Amino acid sequence: MVLVAVLLIMSILLNFSALAFPVSAKNLSLRDIERMVAEEIKRDNMIQYVIDLCSGTMGPEGERLWNPRTQGTPYGEASNAYILEKFEDWGLDEIEIFENPEATDWYYLKTWNVSIEGFTFYATWPCKWSAAGEFEGELVYVGEGTSDEDYEGKVVEGKIVLADGRARSVYKLAVEKYNATGILTDSPNLEGFYTTWARCDSIPFGSERPGIATSYMDGQSLKGLLDNDPVTVHIYIDAEVTHNTSKSVIGTIRGRTSSERYVLVVGHADADAGNMGADDNASGIAVLMEMARALMKLIREGKIPRPNFSIKFMPVGTEIFDTWAYIEAHEEELENIIAVINFDECGYGGWADMLYFEGNDIPAPFKSYGWFTTEVSLQPLMNMLNNIGKDYVGIYWDNYTTNPFLGGSDHEPYVEAGVPATIIWTDAWWAPEYIEQPNKWGGGEIFLDACPYYHSSGDTPENTVLQEPWNMEWSARSGAIAVLRLALFRAHILSDFPVNLEEQVEIVPEFPTWTSMLLILIVLTIAVAVYKQRPLKTPSQ
Ligand SMILES: [Zn+2]
Repeated sequence: MVLVAVLLIMSILLNFSALAFPVSAKNLSLRDIERMVAEEIKRDNMIQYVIDLCSGTMGPEGERLWNPRTQGTPYGEASNAYILEKFEDWGLDEIEIFENPEATDWYYLKTWNVSIEGFTFYATWPCKWSAAGEFEGELVYVGEGTSDEDYEGKVVEGKIVLADGRARSVYKLAVEKYNATGILTDSPNLEGFYTTWARCDSIPFGSERPGIATSYMDGQSLKGLLDNDPVTVHIYIDAEVTHNTSKSVIGTIRGRTSSERYVLVVGHADADAGNMGADDNASGIAVLMEMARALMKLIREGKIPRPNFSIKFMPVGTEIFDTWAYIEAHEEELENIIAVINFDECGYGGWADMLYFEGNDIPAPFKSYGWFTTEVSLQPLMNMLNNIGKDYVGIYWDNYTTNPFLGGSDHEPYVEAGVPATIIWTDAWWAPEYIEQPNKWGGGEIFLDACPYYHSSGDTPENTVLQEPWNMEWSARSGAIAVLRLALFRAHILSDFPVNLEEQVEIVPEFPTWTSMLLILIVLTIAVAVYKQRPLKTPSQ
Protein backbone atom coordinates (compact mmCIF):
# COMPACT_ATOMS: atom_id res chain seq x y z
CA MET A 1 0.00 0.00 0.00
CA VAL A 2 2.82 2.38 0.80
CA LEU A 3 4.25 1.84 -2.67
CA VAL A 4 0.86 2.56 -4.27
CA ALA A 5 0.50 5.74 -2.27
CA VAL A 6 4.01 6.88 -3.16
CA LEU A 7 3.45 6.20 -6.84
CA LEU A 8 0.13 8.05 -6.82
CA ILE A 9 1.64 11.07 -5.07
CA MET A 10 4.51 11.02 -7.56
CA SER A 11 2.16 10.98 -10.51
CA ILE A 12 0.09 13.85 -9.12
CA LEU A 13 3.21 15.89 -8.39
CA LEU A 14 4.58 15.24 -11.86
CA ASN A 15 1.38 16.42 -13.43
CA PHE A 16 1.10 19.57 -11.40
CA SER A 17 4.73 20.36 -12.00
CA ALA A 18 3.87 20.46 -15.69
CA LEU A 19 1.25 23.06 -14.82
CA ALA A 20 3.22 25.04 -12.24
CA PHE A 21 6.63 24.89 -13.91
CA PRO A 22 5.83 24.68 -17.58
CA VAL A 23 9.04 23.01 -18.64
CA SER A 24 7.53 22.52 -22.09
CA ALA A 25 6.15 26.09 -22.29
CA LYS A 26 7.66 27.95 -25.18
CA ASN A 27 7.58 31.30 -26.84
CA LEU A 28 6.79 31.66 -30.51
CA SER A 29 6.58 34.75 -32.63
CA LEU A 30 3.13 35.79 -33.79
CA ARG A 31 4.37 35.23 -37.34
CA ASP A 32 5.32 31.61 -36.61
CA ILE A 33 1.96 30.98 -34.96
CA GLU A 34 0.01 32.48 -37.85
CA ARG A 35 2.04 30.57 -40.42
CA MET A 36 1.40 27.33 -38.58
CA VAL A 37 -2.33 28.04 -38.62
CA ALA A 38 -2.36 29.01 -42.31
CA GLU A 39 -0.46 25.88 -43.27
CA GLU A 40 -2.71 23.58 -41.26
CA ILE A 41 -5.66 24.77 -43.44
CA LYS A 42 -6.03 22.15 -46.18
CA ARG A 43 -7.67 22.77 -49.55
CA ASP A 44 -8.56 19.09 -50.05
CA ASN A 45 -10.41 18.93 -46.73
CA MET A 46 -12.61 21.87 -47.76
CA ILE A 47 -13.35 20.36 -51.17
CA GLN A 48 -14.44 17.17 -49.40
CA TYR A 49 -16.75 19.07 -47.00
CA VAL A 50 -18.38 20.83 -49.97
CA ILE A 51 -18.93 17.56 -51.81
CA ASP A 52 -20.32 15.91 -48.65
CA LEU A 53 -22.59 18.86 -47.83
CA CYS A 54 -23.96 18.89 -51.38
CA SER A 55 -24.63 15.14 -51.55
CA GLY A 56 -28.21 14.07 -50.89
CA THR A 57 -31.51 12.81 -52.25
CA MET A 58 -33.13 15.76 -54.07
CA GLY A 59 -33.16 16.50 -57.78
CA PRO A 60 -34.88 16.08 -61.13
CA GLU A 61 -35.79 12.52 -62.11
CA GLY A 62 -32.88 10.60 -63.56
CA GLU A 63 -30.20 13.14 -62.62
CA ARG A 64 -27.59 13.60 -59.94
CA LEU A 65 -29.14 14.19 -56.54
CA TRP A 66 -28.14 16.63 -53.83
CA ASN A 67 -28.94 18.19 -50.45
CA PRO A 68 -30.19 21.81 -50.37
CA ARG A 69 -29.69 21.75 -46.54
CA THR A 70 -33.10 23.36 -45.97
CA GLN A 71 -33.96 23.51 -42.26
CA GLY A 72 -37.34 22.13 -41.19
CA THR A 73 -36.90 19.23 -43.64
CA PRO A 74 -34.78 16.03 -43.55
CA TYR A 75 -32.20 17.93 -45.66
CA GLY A 76 -31.46 20.30 -42.79
CA GLU A 77 -31.28 17.46 -40.29
CA ALA A 78 -28.75 15.63 -42.48
CA SER A 79 -26.53 18.67 -42.88
CA ASN A 80 -26.66 19.53 -39.14
CA ALA A 81 -25.80 15.90 -38.29
CA TYR A 82 -22.80 16.05 -40.64
CA ILE A 83 -21.45 19.26 -39.09
CA LEU A 84 -22.11 18.00 -35.55
CA GLU A 85 -20.24 14.75 -36.20
CA LYS A 86 -17.22 16.66 -37.52
CA PHE A 87 -17.19 19.03 -34.54
CA GLU A 88 -17.28 15.96 -32.24
CA ASP A 89 -14.49 14.20 -34.18
CA TRP A 90 -12.32 17.29 -33.88
CA GLY A 91 -12.91 17.53 -30.13
CA LEU A 92 -14.32 21.05 -29.97
CA ASP A 93 -14.59 22.05 -26.30
CA GLU A 94 -18.35 22.61 -26.36
CA ILE A 95 -21.02 21.73 -28.91
CA GLU A 96 -24.58 22.93 -28.64
CA ILE A 97 -27.67 23.33 -30.80
CA PHE A 98 -29.34 26.72 -31.12
CA GLU A 99 -32.99 26.33 -32.03
CA ASN A 100 -34.92 29.26 -33.45
CA PRO A 101 -37.96 29.41 -31.14
CA GLU A 102 -40.20 30.48 -34.01
CA ALA A 103 -41.51 27.64 -36.22
CA THR A 104 -42.19 28.48 -39.85
CA ASP A 105 -43.13 26.94 -43.22
CA TRP A 106 -40.57 25.16 -45.40
CA TYR A 107 -40.69 23.91 -48.98
CA TYR A 108 -39.65 20.27 -48.97
CA LEU A 109 -39.00 19.49 -52.63
CA LYS A 110 -38.19 15.87 -53.46
CA THR A 111 -38.15 15.37 -57.22
CA TRP A 112 -39.62 16.67 -60.47
CA ASN A 113 -39.80 16.14 -64.20
CA VAL A 114 -40.58 18.70 -66.93
CA SER A 115 -40.88 17.31 -70.44
CA ILE A 116 -41.86 18.21 -73.98
CA GLU A 117 -41.99 15.44 -76.57
CA GLY A 118 -38.94 15.57 -78.85
CA PHE A 119 -37.25 18.32 -76.81
CA THR A 120 -34.43 18.03 -74.27
CA PHE A 121 -34.05 20.76 -71.64
CA TYR A 122 -30.63 21.88 -70.45
CA ALA A 123 -32.15 22.70 -67.07
CA THR A 124 -35.51 22.99 -65.33
CA TRP A 125 -36.21 24.18 -61.82
CA PRO A 126 -39.47 24.13 -59.79
CA CYS A 127 -39.88 27.55 -58.16
CA LYS A 128 -40.22 27.53 -54.38
CA TRP A 129 -43.86 26.85 -53.28
CA SER A 130 -44.76 25.19 -56.60
CA ALA A 131 -47.71 22.83 -56.04
CA ALA A 132 -47.12 19.08 -56.08
CA GLY A 133 -48.89 16.99 -58.72
CA GLU A 134 -49.10 16.44 -62.47
CA PHE A 135 -49.88 19.29 -64.83
CA GLU A 136 -50.17 19.51 -68.59
CA GLY A 137 -50.89 22.30 -71.01
CA GLU A 138 -50.13 23.91 -74.34
CA LEU A 139 -47.28 26.41 -74.20
CA VAL A 140 -48.06 30.07 -74.97
CA TYR A 141 -45.42 32.82 -75.07
CA VAL A 142 -46.37 36.20 -73.54
CA GLY A 143 -43.09 38.14 -73.62
CA GLU A 144 -42.12 39.58 -70.22
CA GLY A 145 -45.47 38.43 -68.76
CA THR A 146 -45.43 40.94 -65.93
CA SER A 147 -48.03 43.47 -67.18
CA ASP A 148 -51.60 43.18 -68.45
CA GLU A 149 -50.58 44.34 -71.95
CA ASP A 150 -48.47 41.18 -72.29
CA TYR A 151 -51.67 39.13 -72.17
CA GLU A 152 -53.80 41.22 -74.55
CA GLY A 153 -55.25 39.15 -77.37
CA LYS A 154 -53.88 35.91 -75.91
CA VAL A 155 -55.79 33.03 -74.36
CA VAL A 156 -53.76 31.55 -71.51
CA GLU A 157 -56.50 29.85 -69.49
CA GLY A 158 -55.73 26.13 -69.15
CA LYS A 159 -52.35 26.67 -70.82
CA ILE A 160 -48.78 26.91 -69.62
CA VAL A 161 -47.37 30.41 -70.01
CA LEU A 162 -43.80 30.93 -71.23
CA ALA A 163 -42.44 34.31 -70.08
CA ASP A 164 -39.19 36.24 -69.64
CA GLY A 165 -40.06 38.01 -66.35
CA ARG A 166 -39.49 37.06 -62.72
CA ALA A 167 -41.52 34.03 -61.68
CA ARG A 168 -43.52 35.67 -58.89
CA SER A 169 -44.81 38.56 -61.03
CA VAL A 170 -45.54 36.30 -63.98
CA TYR A 171 -47.38 33.78 -61.76
CA LYS A 172 -49.57 36.47 -60.19
CA LEU A 173 -50.86 37.59 -63.57
CA ALA A 174 -50.76 34.41 -65.63
CA VAL A 175 -52.14 32.00 -63.04
CA GLU A 176 -53.90 34.07 -60.41
CA LYS A 177 -55.52 36.57 -62.80
CA TYR A 178 -55.77 34.80 -66.15
CA ASN A 179 -56.09 31.21 -64.85
CA ALA A 180 -53.16 29.58 -66.62
CA THR A 181 -52.25 26.01 -65.57
CA GLY A 182 -48.68 26.98 -64.77
CA ILE A 183 -45.73 29.10 -65.86
CA LEU A 184 -42.33 28.54 -67.40
CA THR A 185 -39.81 31.40 -67.24
CA ASP A 186 -36.35 31.93 -68.72
CA SER A 187 -35.71 35.04 -66.60
CA PRO A 188 -33.47 37.04 -66.73
CA ASN A 189 -33.44 36.22 -70.48
CA LEU A 190 -30.05 37.86 -71.00
CA GLU A 191 -27.50 36.50 -73.43
CA GLY A 192 -24.40 35.42 -71.52
CA PHE A 193 -26.25 34.84 -68.24
CA TYR A 194 -27.85 31.61 -66.98
CA THR A 195 -26.94 30.18 -70.36
CA THR A 196 -27.63 26.47 -69.83
CA TRP A 197 -28.53 26.59 -66.15
CA ALA A 198 -31.83 27.74 -64.61
CA ARG A 199 -32.10 30.63 -62.14
CA CYS A 200 -33.90 29.54 -58.95
CA ASP A 201 -36.90 31.63 -58.12
CA SER A 202 -40.09 31.51 -56.10
CA ILE A 203 -43.83 31.96 -56.58
CA PRO A 204 -46.31 32.96 -53.83
CA PHE A 205 -46.66 30.73 -50.75
CA GLY A 206 -49.65 28.40 -51.03
CA SER A 207 -49.59 28.31 -54.84
CA GLU A 208 -51.88 25.67 -56.30
CA ARG A 209 -50.03 25.41 -59.60
CA PRO A 210 -46.41 25.08 -60.69
CA GLY A 211 -43.82 27.65 -61.67
CA ILE A 212 -40.82 26.32 -63.57
CA ALA A 213 -37.58 28.18 -64.29
CA THR A 214 -35.41 27.25 -67.24
CA SER A 215 -32.20 28.44 -68.92
CA TYR A 216 -31.59 31.16 -71.52
CA MET A 217 -30.82 28.60 -74.25
CA ASP A 218 -33.95 26.58 -73.42
CA GLY A 219 -36.04 29.76 -73.59
CA GLN A 220 -34.60 30.64 -77.00
CA SER A 221 -35.26 27.13 -78.37
CA LEU A 222 -38.81 26.99 -77.04
CA LYS A 223 -39.73 30.34 -78.63
CA GLY A 224 -38.37 28.92 -81.90
CA LEU A 225 -40.44 25.76 -81.51
CA LEU A 226 -43.62 27.78 -80.99
CA ASP A 227 -43.24 29.35 -84.45
CA ASN A 228 -44.12 25.97 -85.94
CA ASP A 229 -46.54 23.60 -84.21
CA PRO A 230 -48.31 23.64 -80.83
CA VAL A 231 -46.08 22.51 -77.97
CA THR A 232 -47.42 20.55 -74.98
CA VAL A 233 -45.60 20.68 -71.63
CA HIS A 234 -45.89 17.99 -68.93
CA ILE A 235 -44.92 18.89 -65.39
CA TYR A 236 -44.59 16.51 -62.46
CA ILE A 237 -43.58 17.70 -58.97
CA ASP A 238 -43.23 15.78 -55.71
CA ALA A 239 -43.04 18.24 -52.82
CA GLU A 240 -44.66 19.12 -49.53
CA VAL A 241 -44.79 22.03 -47.11
CA THR A 242 -43.52 21.34 -43.59
CA HIS A 243 -43.96 23.50 -40.49
CA ASN A 244 -40.97 23.31 -38.21
CA THR A 245 -38.19 25.12 -36.37
CA SER A 246 -34.72 25.80 -37.72
CA LYS A 247 -31.57 24.66 -35.90
CA SER A 248 -27.93 25.71 -35.91
CA VAL A 249 -24.97 23.72 -34.58
CA ILE A 250 -22.52 25.80 -32.51
CA GLY A 251 -19.01 24.56 -31.72
CA THR A 252 -16.78 26.41 -29.24
CA ILE A 253 -13.04 26.62 -28.62
CA ARG A 254 -12.95 27.78 -25.00
CA GLY A 255 -10.82 30.80 -24.11
CA ARG A 256 -8.07 30.48 -21.50
CA THR A 257 -8.60 33.60 -19.40
CA SER A 258 -11.87 35.28 -20.47
CA SER A 259 -13.96 32.51 -21.94
CA GLU A 260 -17.27 34.40 -21.66
CA ARG A 261 -16.13 36.80 -24.36
CA TYR A 262 -15.87 35.40 -27.86
CA VAL A 263 -15.16 35.86 -31.54
CA LEU A 264 -18.11 34.55 -33.54
CA VAL A 265 -17.55 32.83 -36.89
CA VAL A 266 -20.72 32.42 -38.96
CA GLY A 267 -21.90 31.37 -42.43
CA HIS A 268 -25.29 30.23 -43.65
CA ALA A 269 -25.52 26.44 -43.77
CA ASP A 270 -28.62 26.34 -46.00
CA ALA A 271 -28.62 26.65 -49.78
CA ASP A 272 -31.10 29.51 -49.55
CA ALA A 273 -32.09 29.17 -53.21
CA GLY A 274 -32.87 25.47 -52.64
CA ASN A 275 -30.21 24.48 -55.15
CA MET A 276 -27.00 22.52 -54.59
CA GLY A 277 -25.40 25.73 -53.36
CA ALA A 278 -21.79 24.60 -53.68
CA ASP A 279 -20.44 28.15 -53.78
CA ASP A 280 -23.47 29.64 -51.97
CA ASN A 281 -22.80 28.52 -49.33
CA ALA A 282 -21.27 25.07 -48.86
CA SER A 283 -17.98 26.88 -49.58
CA GLY A 284 -18.42 29.23 -46.60
CA ILE A 285 -19.34 26.35 -44.31
CA ALA A 286 -16.33 24.35 -45.51
CA VAL A 287 -14.12 27.35 -44.70
CA LEU A 288 -15.67 27.71 -41.23
CA MET A 289 -15.30 23.97 -40.56
CA GLU A 290 -11.67 23.82 -41.67
CA MET A 291 -10.84 26.83 -39.48
CA ALA A 292 -12.43 25.08 -36.48
CA ARG A 293 -10.57 21.84 -37.19
CA ALA A 294 -7.17 23.46 -37.72
CA LEU A 295 -7.31 25.81 -34.73
CA MET A 296 -8.62 23.15 -32.31
CA LYS A 297 -5.99 20.64 -33.46
CA LEU A 298 -3.05 23.04 -33.05
CA ILE A 299 -4.30 24.22 -29.64
CA ARG A 300 -4.79 20.67 -28.37
CA GLU A 301 -1.32 19.70 -29.59
CA GLY A 302 0.12 22.69 -27.74
CA LYS A 303 1.59 24.06 -30.98
CA ILE A 304 -0.22 27.39 -30.76
CA PRO A 305 -1.46 29.18 -27.63
CA ARG A 306 -5.02 28.70 -26.44
CA PRO A 307 -6.44 32.21 -27.00
CA ASN A 308 -7.60 34.30 -24.06
CA PHE A 309 -11.08 34.69 -25.51
CA SER A 310 -13.35 31.93 -26.83
CA ILE A 311 -14.08 31.29 -30.51
CA LYS A 312 -17.57 30.15 -31.51
CA PHE A 313 -18.30 28.56 -34.89
CA MET A 314 -21.94 28.83 -35.92
CA PRO A 315 -23.07 27.44 -39.27
CA VAL A 316 -26.37 29.33 -39.33
CA GLY A 317 -29.27 26.93 -40.04
CA THR A 318 -31.25 29.49 -42.02
CA GLU A 319 -29.57 32.60 -43.38
CA ILE A 320 -30.39 35.88 -41.56
CA PHE A 321 -33.60 34.40 -40.02
CA ASP A 322 -31.60 32.38 -37.43
CA THR A 323 -29.04 35.15 -37.00
CA TRP A 324 -31.78 37.53 -35.86
CA ALA A 325 -33.09 34.81 -33.53
CA TYR A 326 -29.58 34.37 -32.06
CA ILE A 327 -29.21 38.13 -31.55
CA GLU A 328 -32.60 38.32 -29.82
CA ALA A 329 -31.79 35.35 -27.58
CA HIS A 330 -28.45 36.93 -26.57
CA GLU A 331 -29.54 40.57 -26.43
CA GLU A 332 -28.27 41.05 -22.85
CA GLU A 333 -24.78 39.76 -23.66
CA LEU A 334 -24.06 41.11 -27.13
CA GLU A 335 -21.12 43.09 -25.70
CA ASN A 336 -19.45 39.70 -25.09
CA ILE A 337 -19.09 39.30 -28.84
CA ILE A 338 -15.71 40.78 -29.79
CA ALA A 339 -16.40 40.61 -33.52
CA VAL A 340 -18.30 38.51 -36.06
CA ILE A 341 -16.71 37.12 -39.20
CA ASN A 342 -19.14 35.80 -41.80
CA PHE A 343 -18.26 33.58 -44.77
CA ASP A 344 -20.63 33.54 -47.74
CA GLU A 345 -19.59 32.61 -51.30
CA CYS A 346 -15.92 31.83 -50.80
CA GLY A 347 -15.60 29.19 -53.50
CA TYR A 348 -15.50 30.96 -56.85
CA GLY A 349 -15.16 34.24 -58.72
CA GLY A 350 -16.24 34.37 -62.31
CA TRP A 351 -14.39 37.50 -63.38
CA ALA A 352 -11.49 38.14 -60.97
CA ASP A 353 -9.29 36.46 -58.37
CA MET A 354 -9.78 38.62 -55.34
CA LEU A 355 -10.20 38.17 -51.60
CA TYR A 356 -12.66 40.73 -50.18
CA PHE A 357 -13.00 42.07 -46.62
CA GLU A 358 -16.26 44.00 -46.35
CA GLY A 359 -17.42 47.13 -44.56
CA ASN A 360 -14.80 49.87 -45.13
CA ASP A 361 -17.44 52.64 -45.44
CA ILE A 362 -18.96 52.07 -41.99
CA PRO A 363 -19.68 54.38 -40.26
CA ALA A 364 -18.74 57.37 -42.42
CA PRO A 365 -18.99 58.32 -45.17
CA PHE A 366 -21.58 55.58 -44.97
CA LYS A 367 -24.20 55.83 -47.68
CA SER A 368 -27.70 55.53 -46.32
CA TYR A 369 -29.40 52.40 -47.54
CA GLY A 370 -32.74 53.51 -46.13
CA TRP A 371 -33.43 50.32 -44.26
CA PHE A 372 -30.22 50.43 -42.35
CA THR A 373 -28.41 52.51 -39.73
CA THR A 374 -25.66 51.55 -37.32
CA GLU A 375 -23.66 53.09 -34.49
CA VAL A 376 -20.76 50.67 -34.72
CA SER A 377 -17.52 51.54 -36.51
CA LEU A 378 -15.94 48.80 -38.57
CA GLN A 379 -12.71 50.74 -39.10
CA PRO A 380 -10.62 48.85 -36.46
CA LEU A 381 -11.76 45.53 -37.92
CA MET A 382 -11.07 46.72 -41.47
CA ASN A 383 -7.61 47.95 -40.45
CA MET A 384 -6.84 44.57 -38.92
CA LEU A 385 -8.03 42.63 -41.99
CA ASN A 386 -6.23 44.99 -44.34
CA ASN A 387 -3.02 44.47 -42.35
CA ILE A 388 -3.47 40.70 -42.50
CA GLY A 389 -4.01 41.04 -46.24
CA LYS A 390 -0.75 42.98 -46.51
CA ASP A 391 1.23 40.71 -44.15
CA TYR A 392 0.72 37.58 -46.24
CA VAL A 393 -0.06 38.72 -49.79
CA GLY A 394 1.99 36.74 -52.28
CA ILE A 395 2.35 33.96 -49.68
CA TYR A 396 -1.15 32.80 -48.84
CA TRP A 397 -3.21 34.82 -51.35
CA ASP A 398 -2.50 36.68 -54.58
CA ASN A 399 -4.86 39.65 -54.18
CA TYR A 400 -6.97 41.22 -51.45
CA THR A 401 -9.00 44.35 -50.86
CA THR A 402 -11.46 45.88 -48.46
CA ASN A 403 -14.81 46.93 -49.93
CA PRO A 404 -17.84 49.03 -48.90
CA PHE A 405 -20.71 47.38 -47.08
CA LEU A 406 -23.01 45.34 -49.33
CA GLY A 407 -24.90 43.34 -46.70
CA GLY A 408 -27.49 40.75 -47.59
CA SER A 409 -25.91 38.01 -45.49
CA ASP A 410 -25.43 37.01 -41.85
CA HIS A 411 -23.07 39.86 -40.91
CA GLU A 412 -25.74 42.48 -41.63
CA PRO A 413 -27.97 41.86 -38.56
CA TYR A 414 -24.92 42.10 -36.28
CA VAL A 415 -23.81 45.43 -37.75
CA GLU A 416 -27.37 46.67 -37.35
CA ALA A 417 -27.34 45.47 -33.71
CA GLY A 418 -24.08 47.37 -33.06
CA VAL A 419 -21.69 44.39 -33.07
CA PRO A 420 -18.58 44.77 -35.26
CA ALA A 421 -19.09 42.30 -38.10
CA THR A 422 -17.59 41.69 -41.51
CA ILE A 423 -17.79 39.16 -44.30
CA ILE A 424 -14.90 37.49 -46.11
CA TRP A 425 -15.94 36.55 -49.65
CA THR A 426 -14.65 35.97 -53.19
CA ASP A 427 -17.80 36.47 -55.28
CA ALA A 428 -21.19 38.13 -54.75
CA TRP A 429 -24.46 37.76 -56.67
CA TRP A 430 -24.76 36.99 -60.36
CA ALA A 431 -23.32 39.91 -62.30
CA PRO A 432 -20.10 41.83 -61.60
CA GLU A 433 -20.20 45.57 -60.99
CA TYR A 434 -18.10 48.60 -60.11
CA ILE A 435 -18.87 50.67 -57.02
CA GLU A 436 -17.24 53.67 -55.37
CA GLN A 437 -14.36 52.97 -52.99
CA PRO A 438 -14.18 55.41 -50.02
CA ASN A 439 -11.33 57.95 -50.36
CA LYS A 440 -9.86 56.75 -47.08
CA TRP A 441 -9.44 53.34 -48.69
CA GLY A 442 -7.90 54.48 -51.93
CA GLY A 443 -10.86 56.14 -53.67
CA GLY A 444 -11.88 55.53 -57.26
CA GLU A 445 -13.94 52.52 -58.21
CA ILE A 446 -13.70 48.97 -56.99
CA PHE A 447 -14.64 45.89 -59.01
CA LEU A 448 -17.00 43.46 -57.28
CA ASP A 449 -16.65 39.90 -58.53
CA ALA A 450 -19.69 37.64 -58.98
CA CYS A 451 -20.73 34.06 -59.65
CA PRO A 452 -22.48 33.31 -62.95
CA TYR A 453 -24.11 30.30 -61.23
CA TYR A 454 -25.55 32.38 -58.38
CA HIS A 455 -28.90 30.98 -57.16
CA SER A 456 -29.15 28.55 -60.04
CA SER A 457 -29.14 24.88 -60.92
CA GLY A 458 -25.52 25.42 -62.03
CA ASP A 459 -24.06 26.11 -58.56
CA THR A 460 -22.41 22.67 -58.39
CA PRO A 461 -18.98 21.72 -57.01
CA GLU A 462 -17.83 20.95 -60.59
CA ASN A 463 -18.71 24.45 -61.83
CA THR A 464 -17.39 26.39 -58.83
CA VAL A 465 -15.10 25.13 -56.03
CA LEU A 466 -13.44 22.47 -58.17
CA GLN A 467 -12.66 25.09 -60.81
CA GLU A 468 -11.06 27.56 -58.38
CA PRO A 469 -10.30 25.78 -55.09
CA TRP A 470 -7.82 28.47 -54.03
CA ASN A 471 -10.70 30.80 -53.15
CA MET A 472 -11.65 28.72 -50.11
CA GLU A 473 -8.00 28.47 -49.09
CA TRP A 474 -7.52 32.26 -49.24
CA SER A 475 -10.72 32.82 -47.25
CA ALA A 476 -9.97 30.21 -44.56
CA ARG A 477 -6.36 31.25 -44.06
CA SER A 478 -7.10 34.97 -43.76
CA GLY A 479 -10.13 34.19 -41.61
CA ALA A 480 -8.23 31.91 -39.24
CA ILE A 481 -5.45 34.46 -38.78
CA ALA A 482 -8.04 37.19 -38.14
CA VAL A 483 -9.95 35.09 -35.62
CA LEU A 484 -6.73 34.18 -33.81
CA ARG A 485 -5.50 37.79 -33.62
CA LEU A 486 -8.87 38.88 -32.22
CA ALA A 487 -9.12 36.01 -29.73
CA LEU A 488 -5.47 36.16 -28.61
CA PHE A 489 -5.37 39.80 -27.62
CA ARG A 490 -8.16 41.98 -28.84
CA ALA A 491 -7.14 45.08 -26.85
CA HIS A 492 -3.73 45.01 -28.49
CA ILE A 493 -5.24 44.72 -31.97
CA LEU A 494 -7.57 47.65 -31.52
CA SER A 495 -4.98 50.03 -30.11
CA ASP A 496 -1.87 49.35 -32.12
CA PHE A 497 -1.62 49.04 -35.90
CA PRO A 498 -0.06 47.11 -37.41
CA VAL A 499 0.77 44.31 -34.98
CA ASN A 500 4.39 43.34 -34.55
CA LEU A 501 4.68 39.92 -36.13
CA GLU A 502 7.94 39.32 -34.23
CA GLU A 503 6.17 39.73 -30.88
CA GLN A 504 6.70 36.65 -28.73
CA VAL A 505 3.63 34.82 -27.52
CA GLU A 506 3.86 32.33 -24.67
CA ILE A 507 2.31 28.92 -25.15
CA VAL A 508 1.06 27.47 -21.87
CA PRO A 509 0.73 23.70 -22.23
CA GLU A 510 -2.74 22.21 -22.17
CA PHE A 511 -3.55 20.25 -18.97
CA PRO A 512 -3.80 17.35 -18.88
CA THR A 513 -1.29 16.94 -21.67
CA TRP A 514 -1.02 13.66 -23.54
CA THR A 515 2.28 12.96 -21.77
CA SER A 516 0.72 13.47 -18.37
CA MET A 517 -2.25 11.27 -19.27
CA LEU A 518 0.15 8.53 -20.31
CA LEU A 519 2.12 8.91 -17.08
CA ILE A 520 -1.04 8.56 -14.96
CA LEU A 521 -1.99 5.46 -16.93
CA ILE A 522 1.44 3.83 -16.43
CA VAL A 523 1.50 4.65 -12.71
CA LEU A 524 -2.04 3.33 -12.21
CA THR A 525 -1.22 0.10 -14.05
CA ILE A 526 1.81 -0.46 -11.81
CA ALA A 527 -0.27 0.37 -8.73
CA VAL A 528 -2.98 -2.13 -9.70
CA ALA A 529 -0.37 -4.82 -10.44
CA VAL A 530 1.31 -4.28 -7.06
CA TYR A 531 -2.06 -4.33 -5.26
CA LYS A 532 -3.10 -7.60 -6.95
CA GLN A 533 0.09 -9.35 -5.85
CA ARG A 534 -0.43 -8.51 -2.16
CA PRO A 535 -2.98 -11.24 -1.09
CA LEU A 536 -0.74 -14.00 -2.55
CA LYS A 537 1.74 -13.48 0.29
CA THR A 538 -0.84 -13.94 3.07
CA PRO A 539 -1.24 -17.80 3.03
CA SER A 540 2.50 -18.40 3.51
CA GLN A 541 2.43 -16.79 6.94
ZN1 LIG B 1 -25.25 33.18 -49.55
